[in-house]
Amino acid sequence: MTVPLSTKKVVVIGAGAAGLVAARELIKEGHDVVVFDRGAQLGGNWVYSDEVECDPLGFDPTRKIVDSSLYASLRTNTPREAMGFRDFPFVPTGKADRDSRRFPSHHEVRKYLEDFASEFGLNELISYETEVRYVGLETDGKWMVKSTSVGGDESSEVAQTYDAVVVCNGHFTQPQVADNIAGFDLWPGRQIHSHNYRIPEPYKDQVVVVIGLSSSAVDISREIALSAKEVHVTTRSKAAGKLGKFGKHHIFDNLWLHPMIERAHEDGRVSFQDGSSVLADVILHCTGYKQHFPFLHTNGVVNVDDNRVGPLYKHVFPPSLAPGISFIGVPSLILSFFVYELQSKWVAGVLSGRISLPSEEKMMEDVEAFYSKLEAKGVPKRYTHKIHDVKQLSWSLEYEDWLAAQCGCPLAEEWRKAIFFGRLVHAHKEPETYRDEWDDQDLVFQAYEDFMQYLN
Ligand code: FAD
Repeated sequence: MTVPLSTKKVVVIGAGAAGLVAARELIKEGHDVVVFDRGAQLGGNWVYSDEVECDPLGFDPTRKIVDSSLYASLRTNTPREAMGFRDFPFVPTGKADRDSRRFPSHHEVRKYLEDFASEFGLNELISYETEVRYVGLETDGKWMVKSTSVGGDESSEVAQTYDAVVVCNGHFTQPQVADNIAGFDLWPGRQIHSHNYRIPEPYKDQVVVVIGLSSSAVDISREIALSAKEVHVTTRSKAAGKLGKFGKHHIFDNLWLHPMIERAHEDGRVSFQDGSSVLADVILHCTGYKQHFPFLHTNGVVNVDDNRVGPLYKHVFPPSLAPGISFIGVPSLILSFFVYELQSKWVAGVLSGRISLPSEEKMMEDVEAFYSKLEAKGVPKRYTHKIHDVKQLSWSLEYEDWLAAQCGCPLAEEWRKAIFFGRLVHAHKEPETYRDEWDDQDLVFQAYEDFMQYLN
């Protein structure tokens, strides 16, 4: 006997890449969907803004939040073929206002997301400038969601109940700052988080210390080095022997790599763990972001502890609250849009009853086994959601393939896998040139052959 599928009234929080694909999958599955976003347009992080926050380190909880963390010159760090949603390939459109490069600028990604929303009729589902302030479970099993118009006071609050909430609020907005370094409080220079970095001009002729070696840190340190007096990058992830001047093409003679900061001094010096020090004007924290759900009231069931959001079964469902609340986009170091698409298919199918979840106990056991595995490998809690950390899991799209299997859809294409991992290696080895020089044309060809089934 076939079990009839059920239609749920679902609210999606956020209209970035995750929220858009979640909405698309939910309506495809027959659910009744609304999307709330506090921004004025769709695209989330991909809506570039010149605006920066008044507190450059993001400590002040009352500050006006700027959602985007993009800098003006940003180009994607992932090739477009691997970055797009599976059935809506991110291919050049040939239109005059578009960027056809393989690693295009951020405008192109926003445009792609706009095209995606138009193609699947998502625009009419979205309520803009609507900020969700409260999400909590009612005694009847429904979810209460309270929202206000942006800038509005309590009197503009609207409270509505839903069968399910899909949280897609992103995790690239709340700065994670290296604030445990001795002497930071009294250090007289300027400190800023990369969330508030836009252009290099303010750093001209300055001595800048950049903390971190992520994708953003690599881009920003090189961009600043073109006009700054000196740039000193500090990282905890390099072996001591490899420190020193860096940059394969030796374009820069003012860019240095150091171990971690030992101390910041009241006279403006910053000293490193190798005993060297510099007199610096600015410390730029490229230290990532915090998972942050200020609207969530689950009586402590879902917590963020050292950036671990938990407990979440397969990074999506809190076992004791599933399937009424789910999280799309918590993992990092992934093929983001592709993972959001698979997670969304899973959530939509579980909500309709087409896909079953294990019992709460089994899901909890799975989460605990996962945590134990991380612990045994010495992976810090804060890296729980870094799915493809080389040290953490095998060099495969195991998580993506697991999701695909749940949803009954094809596994990740071999070309997508190879392009993703190839890009990670290439970007590491050739940070200045990986976006414009590559040798995986055969994989690109395979990708475009595959795209033919979706393009008309
Ligand atoms: P977001 O895009 O942040 O969207 C979340 C949305 O939720 C926002 O619109 C926000 O306004 C809304 N929201 C938040 N809170 C509320 C609330 N309380 N009420 C209502 N609405 C709310 N990924 C790649 O694949 N390739 C790249 O090249 C790449 N480069 C990146 C570069 C930088 C500098 C950064 C920071 C990230 C980059 N990423 C990249 C990751 C990228 O952010 C993800 O690809 C993706 O855009 C995240 O989508 P999201 O929907 O999860 O979050």
